[in-house]
Amino acid sequence: MPETPSSLHVSPHPLVAHKLALLRDKHTEPKQFRELVRELTWLLGYEAMADLSLQPSRIETPLEPMDAQRLEPRVGLIPILRAGLGMVDAMLELLPTAEVWHIGLYRDERTLKPVEYYNKLPDAATVQVCLILDPMLATGGSSAATVDILKHWGAARVKQLSLIAAPEGVRTLSSTHPDVDIHVAALDSHLNERGYIVPGLGDAGDRQFGTFAGPASEPGHGPDPHTAEVVRNLQRDLRNE
Ligand code: URA
Repeated sequence: MPETPSSLHVSPHPLVAHKLALLRDKHTEPKQFRELVRELTWLLGYEAMADLSLQPSRIETPLEPMDAQRLEPRVGLIPILRAGLGMVDAMLELLPTAEVWHIGLYRDERTLKPVEYYNKLPDAATVQVCLILDPMLATGGSSAATVDILKHWGAARVKQLSLIAAPEGVRTLSSTHPDVDIHVAALDSHLNERGYIVPGLGDAGDRQFGTFAGPASEPGHGPDPHTAEVVRNLQRDLRNE
């Protein structure tokens, strides 16, 4: 069994475990699912922001002036489309002045590499800390590619916030970007041949947005051969560590 990297932080909080159990349950309907994604994002976001730097700030309370502290870095939120969108509002409630930047990636069926299709980042970084939001850290390919883009942009610090991670995804991200902290509610067992986290919660996008009609979410739908091969390669790398 490979060692867990020091960049991985699995929340030990009982509230997180409780809400995650409700989220995973297949009987949880989209409305409650969205509420739980929001509540878990608050809790994990709070933990992920624990080491943000502060700067002195002189304020006046109704009683007297005092030296207080305010957050120093500007923070950017980068939701991975589409499931990450459900985590944005919760993070904006914690950090109302955060900037939200969208980066769109899809996986090329032939090369299996993430391809960028949407990126409106300005030339120079406008934030110091970037928080990638993706409920499911599965293969880690999109996250690693997003970190590449954000570092190239000039972000000084990047963190990943996910509800559930697979060991394969943690390995991809932590081996390509060991400096990226990964905050999750749970580290699950493995990816199946369709790239779904097991035991997981199914498709986080479908469960949030009530879109269950696509063939890929039907239980009888066979695995895409490319996906199955990517998963096998990731699992071989993991075993050989
Ligand atoms: N994306 C999901 O929504 N679920 C998984 O299990 C893996 C990737």
